[in-house]
Amino acid sequence: MTILTKQQSPYKWAYKLTNILNAVPGLSRFPVDVKLTAEEISRNLYPDDPISMIKGASLPSFEAGLFKAPAHKKGWGIIYNKDISSPGRLNFTLAHEFGHYLIHRLEHPDGIQCGEQDLVRWDSEYRQMEHEANVFAANLLMPLDDYRLQVPANIKASIELISQCANRYGVSLVAAILRWLEYTESKSVLVVSRDGFVLWARSSQSAYKSGFYLKTSNRQPIPVPEKSLASETIFLQMTSMSAKHNNDVWFGQNCEEILINSELYDFKLSLIHLNRY
Ligand SMILES: [Zn+2]
Repeated sequence: MTILTKQQSPYKWAYKLTNILNAVPGLSRFPVDVKLTAEEISRNLYPDDPISMIKGASLPSFEAGLFKAPAHKKGWGIIYNKDISSPGRLNFTLAHEFGHYLIHRLEHPDGIQCGEQDLVRWDSEYRQMEHEANVFAANLLMPLDDYRLQVPANIKASIELISQCANRYGVSLVAAILRWLEYTESKSVLVVSRDGFVLWARSSQSAYKSGFYLKTSNRQPIPVPEKSLASETIFLQMTSMSAKHNNDVWFGQNCEEILINSELYDFKLSLIHLNRY
């Protein structure tokens, strides 16, 4: 019999699973094998209601979803867009759906479908349920105690260093940047834009406290600053390029902007460091 327990928070779930994974002898710890973890954990915790299938398929209108098994079978299936070519993006997607399974399946007995925005945008102003699934995925794949060892909180991380962490954790660069922003003491902001307008932005706590943030919900679209790299229409040959700006570009501050070429997504990523340099 499956006991309907009160659903735990994404943090508690990730913490619990991290402890389980830490205790597995001989386990190659990173990147987390999400498929195996989801199947094993769900089978152990909920033998009558496990994740019994994870597979790719052609999905025309969404990126991935959690689906109830057909009536004659038990459990749940995770189906993801088979056109996701990046292993990091796929790993995060699977962890996100695993989060929906652990946290939301009882409230959504017919399943959940997720679009690209749901998986990329980690913003509590956005849909709460998607936010929780992303918090779970980030905490499971990139435990902060390990991340802090790779990149100490008091340094301004280079994009190369964050890229190494993206490889270590098997996630996309944007996911690794967002996770780093959660604990760094650096005044840094990630701005995601398309066609000259800011889609959304995320500040480190230190940047936020200093008033360096962009609110995008419930307001007119914000154009990217004219002199910013984000406003350029050039095609990047390399992974990233950077520029040092005077105080007339971003947030009225001298800053460094690193524009990241992400062929994975249809938007531009600007990582802005507002520390003195
Ligand atoms: Zn979702």
